[in-house]
Amino acid sequence: TTRSNSLAQADLATALHPYTDARAHEQRGPLIIERGEGVRVFDSEGRDYIEAMSGLWSVALGFSEERLVKAATAQMEKLPYYHSFTHKAHEPSIRLGEKLVEMAPEGLTRVFFTNSGSEANDTVIKMVWFMNNALGRPKKKKFLARTKGYHGITIASGSLTGLPNNHRDFDLPAIPVVHLTCPHHYRFGHEGESEQDFAKRLIAEAEETILREDPDTIAAFIGEPLMGAGGVMPPPEGYWDGIAALCKKYDILLVADEVINGFGRLGTTFGCQKYGFTPDILVTSKQLTSSYLPLAAILFSEKVYDAIADNTHTIGTFGHGYTATGHPVATAVGLENLAIIEERDLVGNAARMGERLQEGLAILKDHPLVGEVRGEGLIAGVELVADKAKKTPFDPIGKVGTRAFEIGHEEGLIIRNAGDTLALCPPLIVTEEDVDAILARLTRIIDRTWEWVQAEGLKG
Ligand code: PMP
Repeated sequence: TTRSNSLAQADLATALHPYTDARAHEQRGPLIIERGEGVRVFDSEGRDYIEAMSGLWSVALGFSEERLVKAATAQMEKLPYYHSFTHKAHEPSIRLGEKLVEMAPEGLTRVFFTNSGSEANDTVIKMVWFMNNALGRPKKKKFLARTKGYHGITIASGSLTGLPNNHRDFDLPAIPVVHLTCPHHYRFGHEGESEQDFAKRLIAEAEETILREDPDTIAAFIGEPLMGAGGVMPPPEGYWDGIAALCKKYDILLVADEVINGFGRLGTTFGCQKYGFTPDILVTSKQLTSSYLPLAAILFSEKVYDAIADNTHTIGTFGHGYTATGHPVATAVGLENLAIIEERDLVGNAARMGERLQEGLAILKDHPLVGEVRGEGLIAGVELVADKAKKTPFDPIGKVGTRAFEIGHEEGLIIRNAGDTLALCPPLIVTEEDVDAILARLTRIIDRTWEWVQAEGLKG
C-alpha cells in the first residue's frame, strides 16, 4: 500500500535511502516517524510503536530526554560551533574526554572524536598505520577482522566490515584486511564441537593466519566484543582470552569496536569488561550521545599516543581530523548523557532488565520457527530457521526475517532483521512493563510469521 500523505510523496520524489530497496520503496513509501516519547515512537498517522531497537542500537535514554535537549540548547547559545584543529580546544570536548578516560578500562588514557562510527574506524586505521610508519615498520599494516563483523560503510571501515552486501558493488575491501571465521557457535561450530573447542579452533585459525601472512605485516585485530549488526552473536567462552593473548604474542594492536556494546548495553559499562579483556583501542558512538547528535570517540593507549606524538618521520603532525571533530554541541550532549546513565544506574538497569528479557526470550527456544535465541543484557537475537533439528536456514535468507520485521510494525514493535535473525536492542531505560510488552509483542510476531511460513510453504 502506497502511503499517500504529502510528506510521503515528497520523500518518494526526492530521496534515496540507506539500506533500502529503492524500487520497493517507490511502491510502499516511507513510514514517517514523527515524534518520540520514552521507549515509544509515533508515526504520521498517530500509531505508536515500542522502539525495541533504540533506533539503530542508539537511544540509551529513549526519545524524550529533556536534559539532553537543555544541554544542547545551552551549548548552542554559548558556543554553537568551534573546531579543534591546530591547537584549539573548547570546554565540552575537553570535559567529555576527561569523563571518557575516567570511565574507560585501565590503560586507555587518550581520546579522539569523530562524527560517526565509520569515521572512527577509518581514524583507527590511520592511527595504526601512522603509528607503524612512525615506529619504522611500514610493512605492518594489515587488519584482522571477522566475517559478519560490522565496522562501518566508508571505503576503509567498510573494508573491515565482513558482510558481502557491504563489499559487493563497492569493490571492497580496498585496504589489506583478512576476515577470520565468525565466532558464532550455532552457525560455525562443527557437529558435536563444544563451545570451548570451537573457540580454540578459531584461535588456532587466527594464529595460523598470522603466521601465514607474516606477523610483521599484521597491525591490528578489530572486533565487536559481542557482534551486533551481523546478527547479535555473543562470543564463545574463552574466545577473547585467546585472541588477546595472540595479539600480545605477535605485537598486534587489539581494537574493540564498542559502537553498539559501549555504555551499558551488555549490563557492563563496556563489552570488553563483560568478556574480561583490555583492548589497546576502544571505539564508541551511538549510546555516547544516545544519538541525539552524531558523535563517536576513540579511546586509546599511551603507547599509541606516544608513537604518534613523537613521530618525526613526517612533519610531526597527525594530519587527520574533521570539521566537526569534538563538536561542542555533540560533546555537551554526550557529557550530559553519560551523567544521566550514571545517576540513574542505567548500566545496572540494563543488567536487571536484561536478565528479564533474556529469560523471557528463552521460552521462544521451543517454538518450531526458532533455531536459536541468544544475547546478553539488553541485546538479543532470535534466529528463525526452516528446519529446527537440522538448523537449515531459509532460502533465500532474509525473506522470512523481513516478513517478521513487517509484521512487527503491525504489532506495534520496531525490531530489525539481520537476515532471518530478529534483533532486539531496547533503550537502557526500559521498565519491567516495557520488557514484558516487548516479549508479548515479539511472541505474536513469531506466531504470525510461523503461520505465514506454513501458508507459503517456505522451506530451506
Ligand atoms: N561499528 C559498529 C559495531 C556498528 O554497529 C556501527 C553502526 N551500526 C558502526 C561501526 C558504524 O557507525 P556509523 O553508522 O555511525 O558510521
